[in-house]
Amino acid sequence: AAKAAGQNCYAYFTASLQETAQNRLQLANALRSAMELEQLHVVFQPIVRLSDGHLHKAEALLRWVHPVRGLVSPAEFIPLAEEIGLISDMGNWVFEEAMRKVSQWMPLHHGQLQISVNMSPLQFHSGRDTASVWLDYLHRLDLSGSNVIIEITEGLLLHADPTISIQLLGFRDMGIQVAIDDFGTGYSSLAYLQKFDIDYLKIDQAFVRALDTDSGNQALVEAIVVMAHKLGLKVIAEGVETAAQRDFLRNIGCDYAQGYLFAKPLQPDDFEAMLRGKADSEI
Ligand code: C2E
Ligand code: MG
Ligand code: MG
Ligand code: MG
Repeated sequence: AAKAAGQNCYAYFTASLQETAQNRLQLANALRSAMELEQLHVVFQPIVRLSDGHLHKAEALLRWVHPVRGLVSPAEFIPLAEEIGLISDMGNWVFEEAMRKVSQWMPLHHGQLQISVNMSPLQFHSGRDTASVWLDYLHRLDLSGSNVIIEITEGLLLHADPTISIQLLGFRDMGIQVAIDDFGTGYSSLAYLQKFDIDYLKIDQAFVRALDTDSGNQALVEAIVVMAHKLGLKVIAEGVETAAQRDFLRNIGCDYAQGYLFAKPLQPDDFEAMLRGKADSEI
């Protein structure tokens, strides 16, 4: 009986592994044509200044609406895009799409609007000079590097790869700011914060969520803010969902916040409406 069960088990896993592999293959093929078929679009999540509620930053987030499966999570298709060599093209497309919107919104923000875009580590290993391609594009739209923040993860800075520093300098030379995304979830080494010119730490939403319940966590978040400020960095809290979290973060001097309490990632038209209406209102 045990043997039979074992065999069944084996058969079951084989079938499901095959199915998974086939699913992924199908999804990969669909992703390859998603850009041409206009299934990709960019949404914008407001990032508000905590001291006064001003809105002049937002994070661009990629969305894929698959014709059959509907909305596919970036957590699923971004790793896939990395695996099949699409991420650089996709990352450039997100940047261009976001900047086209910023240029349309120009009259609403007097040049102040800053959009932060996520960058995969692979975009730094593509052999392309992304910074100069982006600069050309910004100039064509009458924008500048000051309209852009790039979000990178701690892992990118860990391996002392000189080409990474050179590329980051390239971005900073054109006025693009740099944020560390998901700060606190990756590696415990903080040495890189001094070694590279970083502008923002984005505190991961796991820490923000735990603010409600865990006083040790509150101490940790406060310490991150103090440390960041001593190093000349600003702090953005991610995943802020409650007024209590917002108030705590504001009280400890956290600079910016992003989360469902303020707004979910918005379609461009809805973000534009928010820019028009609420840019200077209290939060
Ligand atoms: P991320 O860069 O850390 O983006 C923040 C994620 O948190 C987004 O998920 C956003 O929708 C979600 N979020 C924001 N506020 C809240 C909140 O209050 N509560 C909760 N529960 N979630 C909140 P999303 O859009 O599903 O993206 C997931 C991840 O996929 C991103 O994490 C980023 O790592 C990646 N991603 C998204 N777009 C791009 C892209 O254009 N390029 C690259 N390389 N990665 C991307
Ligand atoms: Mg991000
Ligand atoms: Mg994040
Ligand atoms: Mg993330």
